[in-house]
Amino acid sequence: MDILKELRESGLKVTIPRLRILQLFQEGKGKHLSADDVYRFLLTEKIDVGLATIYRVLMQFAEAGILFRRHFESGHAVFELNEGTHHDHLVCTICGQVDEFVDEGIERRQDEIAAERGFVLHEHALSLYGTCAVCTRQKQLLSKL
Ligand SMILES: [Zn+2]
Ligand SMILES: [Zn+2]
Repeated sequence: MDILKELRESGLKVTIPRLRILQLFQEGKGKHLSADDVYRFLLTEKIDVGLATIYRVLMQFAEAGILFRRHFESGHAVFELNEGTHHDHLVCTICGQVDEFVDEGIERRQDEIAAERGFVLHEHALSLYGTCAVCTRQKQLLSKL
């Protein structure tokens, strides 16, 4: 994806912070980033942008359809690139790790359930909350001490 083109087409002015923030997502420095995460990345690069500004920029990207805003139960809103494909999430409530999955069976059932009720489905967001493999192992180790 061409960042400059993407920015211009969204009608947003091309500024250094906007460019850099969009780049962060494209570089794949973690796929699901909160405003805090972005703030920390920029700090390490000595780019001085306040948290409020970062949040505003992220929301502008979300409104422009460049990013998705996710509301996970376990904390702050996180953002990820809109890559034009759908996926669902597994969220670790201990470390915040976010994994993605797509399951044909689940997708199909949701369509069927909506259709049975004459409900026109626009979109869905499915998030499973629990403990990731790393945190589960850590818990088991600690319990043996
Ligand atoms: Zn975890
Ligand atoms: Zn995702």
